[in-house]
Amino acid sequence: MEIDAVKAARVRVLALDVDGVLTDNGIWIGPIAGERVELKRFDIQDGLGLVLLRTAGIPVIWLSGRRSEATAMRAEELQVDELLQVPGPRKLEALGELCERRRVAWEEIAYVGDDLADLQVMRRVGLPIAVANAVPEIRAVADCVSTAMGGHGAVREVVESLLKARGVWPEMLERYFTERAKRDA
Ligand SMILES: [Mg+2]
Repeated sequence: MEIDAVKAARVRVLALDVDGVLTDNGIWIGPIAGERVELKRFDIQDGLGLVLLRTAGIPVIWLSGRRSEATAMRAEELQVDELLQVPGPRKLEALGELCERRRVAWEEIAYVGDDLADLQVMRRVGLPIAVANAVPEIRAVADCVSTAMGGHGAVREVVESLLKARGVWPEMLERYFTERAKRDA
């Protein structure tokens, strides 16, 4: 996937849908000791991608239309800048509020989505990206489509393409290793 360098340079926030983008859209639901338990599977390579993006100073927002403790736990673990879980068709409104709060223009947002709930947002943002498993309506409005599937490295691919298009990929890798070495010392 190749992202336009001009559009990539404008990005100030990366916003991600969760189910189908950071996961393969599956949810494990069942009872454990009489309690309802919900589990999701996240991709470790996506996680490292988001760390690299933070190193580059681009905040990461997760925007989900479904409340889930599994999502909240993974977002916290990755120190995602903001997790917005907004049930119902409120994604556009929630992202609009975020734009005002962070003083970011719609054109400065890159958004990754997979399903119809993302359509309005994809039409508004400056850099709409679809994952390989996105529905046709979402692919149709996307600037580019990832080769990898949601939950299987799609977000890592987006981050890498974005940082490469901005010309900072090698520098971010270098910084990641230096900071890690400092931390481990
Ligand atoms: Mg989704």
